[in-house]
Amino acid sequence: MNTVALTGNPNTGKTTLFNLLTGSYEYVGNWPGVTVEKKVGRLRGMQGLLVDLPGIYSLTPLSKDEGVATGYLLEENPDLLLNIVDASQLERNLYLTLQLIEYGKPMVVSLNMVDVAKSRGYEIDAKKLADKLQLPVLPIVARTGNGCEKVREAIKHGGVTPSDLQINYGDIIEQAIDKLSFALSFQTDLTMPKRWLALQFLEGNEVVTTFLEKRIDIGLLDQIYQQTVEQCRKTGLVKNHSSLQPYMRQIRSKVISEIIASCLTQKHRVEKTWTDRIDNIVTHRLWGLPIFLLFMFLAFKLTFEWVGVPLSDLLDGFLGGPFTDWLRVGMESISLSSFLQAAILDGAVAGVGGVLVFVPQIFVLFLIISFIEDSGYMARVAMVMDKIMEMIGLNGKSFIPMIIGFGCNVPGVMAARSIEQPKERLLTIILTPLMSCSARLPIYSLFVGTFFAQNQAIIVLSIYVLGIVLSLILAKLFSIFLLRHESSVFFIELPPYRMPQGRTLIRSTWEKGKGFIRKAGTFIFGGSIVIWFLSYAGPGGLDVSMNDSFLAMIGGVIAPLFTPLGFGSWEAGAALLTGFLAKEVVVSTMNIIYAAPDALSLQSLLESQFTALGAYSFMVFVLLYVPCLATVAVIRKETGSAKWTWFSVVYGLAIAYLVSFLIYEGGKLLGFA
Ligand code: GDP
Ligand code: MG
Repeated sequence: MNTVALTGNPNTGKTTLFNLLTGSYEYVGNWPGVTVEKKVGRLRGMQGLLVDLPGIYSLTPLSKDEGVATGYLLEENPDLLLNIVDASQLERNLYLTLQLIEYGKPMVVSLNMVDVAKSRGYEIDAKKLADKLQLPVLPIVARTGNGCEKVREAIKHGGVTPSDLQINYGDIIEQAIDKLSFALSFQTDLTMPKRWLALQFLEGNEVVTTFLEKRIDIGLLDQIYQQTVEQCRKTGLVKNHSSLQPYMRQIRSKVISEIIASCLTQKHRVEKTWTDRIDNIVTHRLWGLPIFLLFMFLAFKLTFEWVGVPLSDLLDGFLGGPFTDWLRVGMESISLSSFLQAAILDGAVAGVGGVLVFVPQIFVLFLIISFIEDSGYMARVAMVMDKIMEMIGLNGKSFIPMIIGFGCNVPGVMAARSIEQPKERLLTIILTPLMSCSARLPIYSLFVGTFFAQNQAIIVLSIYVLGIVLSLILAKLFSIFLLRHESSVFFIELPPYRMPQGRTLIRSTWEKGKGFIRKAGTFIFGGSIVIWFLSYAGPGGLDVSMNDSFLAMIGGVIAPLFTPLGFGSWEAGAALLTGFLAKEVVVSTMNIIYAAPDALSLQSLLESQFTALGAYSFMVFVLLYVPCLATVAVIRKETGSAKWTWFSVVYGLAIAYLVSFLIYEGGKLLGFA
């Protein structure tokens, strides 16, 4: 079986090509760091596997996801490298290409984004480039599929083994390479050229060093390295620092300049591209942030007032009306026992239906997030936020996981992998749960619809902003008291803006949203029946009054704790308790407890139990208290630390209590109650 490894710089269209060649639907987004793990797919129409690796600028990794690609080249033995090169950024992209050529495996170069290059006035002679690299170079537009057939053909033919283009790094380095290669020559199980290993070792590639350490006495290699540095210093090739990398980089850059000179011409200068013009506004020093907030505000208007809610209401009318009637008639006709009827209607339908009616809102929100991702605005937001984020010990890149966290905290936490600094990464992981995910949205929807009908968007926005602001404050506190300071690097590509394709948007919205529906059909379905049973049974037997049920007992135990926060009823306590599993369950539980036939009657029941201030305090509590089960699991996995996992649960609870307390008691003092 053939294995083809797809490699290239970030955001060059690797995943787009991967999807084309394998017929899969991986996540495509217009910002660097979308793919943080390798993905494997079966090549369509031929034998073999295609591996989509995270994007890298060079084989020397800066962040955790970048190490994945180098690690792959070391541990696995791909038969072919498919190197995707962004034609509009040829010079920078070729750096990786040179390092891959040194790896010595058969290669095919696909020159992507030729449309973008053309629009910027570049003309690339693919034949000449192929001549220089001694490799097949295939111009494509992955987005439309133009030219991809040729890539398929080239893969079938197995590519070309690079041979002629060997860079001469000068006598000292070449000698060191020979010595290292000799030392490595006894390692007969290594499939890659020793020269490549030697070069990577000399460059100080940590992944390679760790790899070698496991097999060979690193002391010997280190000695050769030190000698080489010493020699280079004497001859002035290396200045004060002890790293050879700048020197080697310089040599490669010279080779690249020669290649570029022979194959790239700029036909006309494009003075100001659209991207520049838009960026002048949205990344403006002063306007950048207000524009972002305005975007968010419009997003919530769209979600809550203009599109989402009207659709939700329709769905609610259907589920509560015709659907329930039909189900009841159906169950009567097969004479189902009244116990089962109640379990289905009062448990499953109330619980699952209560969550399902929010599907339209959630999909609208996901559509907006997908749009932000694919248009290229995401990287700008990171940039706009960078200054603020740096003040508090994070950097702009931390904001991307947070925005993804608005959809769902689980992929948000995972997206933190593209952050270079371990401390910033850890901080981002434990703060991402403060971003209000879509599962919390049904709760807000329910409460703002009841208590703040006139200002739904602004109230919900305030909750989201509260999450952001608190995460910023906590980041500062944590970075002062808990984590040693590291100097921060912020480095993000600003990709050109692209009008997202309808197909991609719909697909990526569906990919995000389907989990929500699946969860409703499985987890929440099961949970709802259990919760219903707890509300149906009590110490006194079955079919007890709700206030004598087990659920009331359990909720009642913790209810007094919440009295100072404005929601000290057993109902609220029980809902919060079950919300540990998944936040949607809060709404399911309330639906079951209040046994309301539709949203309207549920609202009027709520009004009898909460004041507007208490409702706000409740929403804030839901925002902040503990991440859901799935998020806790992914935090554990990503941090690899039980201590930090516990920490994120405990600080969440503490902060939730404190902030809700301040809001409720403060609000009362101000006369809002
Ligand atoms: P990756 O980070 O290398 O995996 O890149 P993606 O496949 O996620 O694509 C990055 C962005 O570039 C997406 O917005 C794609 O729609 C877009 N894209 C991919 N190929 C082309 C192309 O040939 N031309 C243009 N204009 N855009 C492309
Ligand atoms: Mg990708």
